[in-house]
Amino acid sequence: MLRQDYNRVDPKRRHVDYRKQQFADPAYKETEYPHRLNFYETPPTADITLEQFEQWAIDRLRILAELEACSFRNKTPAETATHMKPLLDKYLRLDSNSSASSKLFSERQKDHYSHFILRLAFASTEDLRRRFSRVETMLFRLRLSEDGGRERNAFIQSLNLDWEPATDEERTKYSAELTATAGLKKGGEEETYFKVDWERVPELVEARRVFLRAGQAFVPSKELPSMVAAQFTQRLDRALELTARALPRLDEDDRLAPILEHLSKNFITPDASFGASGSGPAVPGAEITARSIDALSSHFPLCMQNLHRSLRRDAHLKHYGRLQYTLFLKGIGLNLEECLVFWRSAFHKVTDDTFNKEYRYNVRHSYGDVGGDSIRRGGGYSPFSCQKILTEHPPGPGEAHGCPYRHFNLENLTALLQGVGISDRAVLQGVKEDKDNQKFHMACNRVFEYVHKNELKKAKDENLMSASQLETIVHPNEYFRRSYLLKNLGKANQSDDVKMEGS
Ligand code: SF4
Repeated sequence: MLRQDYNRVDPKRRHVDYRKQQFADPAYKETEYPHRLNFYETPPTADITLEQFEQWAIDRLRILAELEACSFRNKTPAETATHMKPLLDKYLRLDSNSSASSKLFSERQKDHYSHFILRLAFASTEDLRRRFSRVETMLFRLRLSEDGGRERNAFIQSLNLDWEPATDEERTKYSAELTATAGLKKGGEEETYFKVDWERVPELVEARRVFLRAGQAFVPSKELPSMVAAQFTQRLDRALELTARALPRLDEDDRLAPILEHLSKNFITPDASFGASGSGPAVPGAEITARSIDALSSHFPLCMQNLHRSLRRDAHLKHYGRLQYTLFLKGIGLNLEECLVFWRSAFHKVTDDTFNKEYRYNVRHSYGDVGGDSIRRGGGYSPFSCQKILTEHPPGPGEAHGCPYRHFNLENLTALLQGVGISDRAVLQGVKEDKDNQKFHMACNRVFEYVHKNELKKAKDENLMSASQLETIVHPNEYFRRSYLLKNLGKANQSDDVKMEGS
């Protein structure tokens, strides 16, 4: 499910200033790619066109966004691999040396360049760096698991990782512990082990899959892929820090800066399909006006129901609450005029003068009616995805924005759920466990499934929705859209109404 707006930047903005020398005159050096996989240690230096620069990065971004969506949906590695295969073949194909492909060089070159371009685009903030490193590691792992044994070993050897093999003496001495931690059956003592500093394999230590002695982890060779992936992450994290420090110099290159900014914006707002422009209802046939919001709020996810209830209770919301809610309402299809009517009547304790001075501008700004050029051209801001709500600007005292599954304590969350009519003990217990395990999306989807259980059964029985349309919800506006459509299953001529865009 791809929802990013991957359009290219306006070609007119690609003005080239030839006085800027630092990126205009690279030292040309043809890179060779003896292996399918790459640790991306050496930046590329050969010339490519600006179109390639942009298109390759966009293609890689599609892949990374899709991988991230797979992890949000809790897909297993095998499900992820099946799901990604056609996309990887289309956008970022990497054939093995043993294939007869004549495109090995161009495929590997695209992979190499696109990684470094996105590294530039996503080095600017810690949040972006963390997400980039996480999804790049997922991609690396996926590819490593697909590599044939011989090619994988050749690649790992080429990395010159200073892993010391355990001696025969050590293997004999710790035989019982090694066999137990490596999960080997009797007779598995022949396994080869490598000694590495335990900090280099945190995942294996956490899962107790290695024997620890004097600060060293004894890693069985079958765990090599995990070790290599951990190395990949460590090096990438370090490289991203260095890139972040070098970024200010890049700002001076006005050919690349707009492209990079555009790319990182797409990554920050992983779901732009809910309309930066706020044009038209998100569901066919729905009346989306200021007056209909109270009735429609029964289809809202808990984050938006909480904002709505706080607004009705206090006749006020603080800044981030207004922003989160305005963009959501825009995403469901409330136009600017109606949105202003909505906020004006909701803030009924303030005068017209106060409203116009303090609140009107921000609503118009969200819709792109006022503001800088790029905001207006882009139709304002996109509605926030769950990822953004969950990770940015946690609410402080007196604020109602954020995700209740994450930001409320259990007692307040339970009270809120009961307040919106969810008192089933099994559901509340499931939400508690999801929250304990930090699976906030799972809690939200659990509640969605409970609230819509009859409609979901009908939709499945009558084959009204495809499997992908029943996947985990990762955007508040998607929650609304599905809820509205499901609750109206019987009321309209179905075949068109139930179809959901882009899912
Ligand atoms: Fe809202 Fe997403 Fe949290 Fe659900 S998981 S309440 S949609 S932010």
